[in-house]
Amino acid sequence: MVAKIIDGHAVARQVRDECRELTKALATRGVVPGLAVIMVGDNAASKVYVANKTKACSEVGLKSTVYSFDADTPGSVVEAEIRRLNEDPQVHGILVQLPLPAHFDARRVLGAISSDKDVDGFHLYNVGALVQGETVFPPCTPYGVQKMLEHEGIAVEGQNVVVVGASNIVGKPMALMLMQKDATVCICHAKTRDLAQFTILADILVVAAGRPNLIVPQMVRTGAVVIDVGINRLPDGRLVGDVDFEGVRQKASYITPVPGGVGPMTVTMLVYNTVQSAQRHSLH
Ligand code: NAP
Repeated sequence: MVAKIIDGHAVARQVRDECRELTKALATRGVVPGLAVIMVGDNAASKVYVANKTKACSEVGLKSTVYSFDADTPGSVVEAEIRRLNEDPQVHGILVQLPLPAHFDARRVLGAISSDKDVDGFHLYNVGALVQGETVFPPCTPYGVQKMLEHEGIAVEGQNVVVVGASNIVGKPMALMLMQKDATVCICHAKTRDLAQFTILADILVVAAGRPNLIVPQMVRTGAVVIDVGINRLPDGRLVGDVDFEGVRQKASYITPVPGGVGPMTVTMLVYNTVQSAQRHSLH
C-alpha cells in the first residue's frame, strides 16, 4: 500500500476560497473582517509568522493591523490596548503572538482578550468550552487537521485515534476535538512508556511532538491515516516532520507531508475563525 498524500496547500486554498466568498458577502453589508495582531519584542521567528498571517488576511480581503510593542513594555500597557481593541467594532479577532518576553504573564495577557474575539482559541473560556464541545474558536492547528480529515472524507466516529504530543496548543485540543466527534482517543507524551504499543493501534495517528523521525513504519498499522504536525529544522537545513515520511508512506492509507501538509492549514484557519467571527458580530 502506498499512501495518498494529503495536499495541505490544496485544502487550504479551498478553505480560503470559502472565506473570500463570505468576505464578499459581508462587504455588501459594509463589514470588513478585522484582525488585530499584538506583537511584543523582536523575536525573528514571530516576525515571520506575523508577516504570513497578515499576508493571508489581505489575500482573502480581511483588514489586519499589527500592534508592536517594545520588549520592555509593561504588561499593563499591552493589556490596556487589548481592552481597547475588545471594544472596537471594526476588530473581530485579536491574537497575541507567542512567545511573549519572559517578564510577561502570558495567561493574564491572553485572558484580557474578549472571549468572542479570541480567534486563536487560547483564552481559558474557549479552552473550557472546547472541553464541553461548545467552543466558537477551535485552535487553528488542530482545526486545520480536522478540516483536512473532512476534506478527504475520512470518518472519525468510532475510530482509534492516537495523538502523540500533549501541548495546550496542539495535542490536547486535537484530542478533545476528535473525542467530540466520537473517536476513541489516546494521548501520548514524552513520558509515555513504549510509544509503539499505542501508535500501532491507531486508525488515525496525529503526531505533534517536535521530534524528527519519532514515528517509523513498524509503529504504524497498515492502512492507518497519518497526520504529521511536527516541524523540525535539521542541521543540514532541511525541514521535516516527526514521521519517517518515505518509510511510513509505504504502509499508511493517507499521509501529510512536511512541508506542505498541516502547516498551510494553520494560518488558513486563523483567517477562517476571523471571518466567522465577523459574520457572528454582524448578526448582533
Ligand atoms: P510542545 O509544546 O513542545 O509539545 C510537544 C509535545 O510532544 C509534549 O506534550 C511532549 O511531551 C511531547 N513529546 C516530546 N517528545 C516526545 C516523545 N519522544 N514521545 C512522545 N511525545 C513526545 O510543542 P507543540 O507546540 O505542541 O508543537 C509540536 C510540534 O508541532 C513542533 O514540531 C511544532 O513546530 C509543530 N507545530 C506545527 C504547527 C503547524 O502549523 N504545522 C503548529 C504548531 C506546532 P511532554 O508533555 O511530556 O513534554
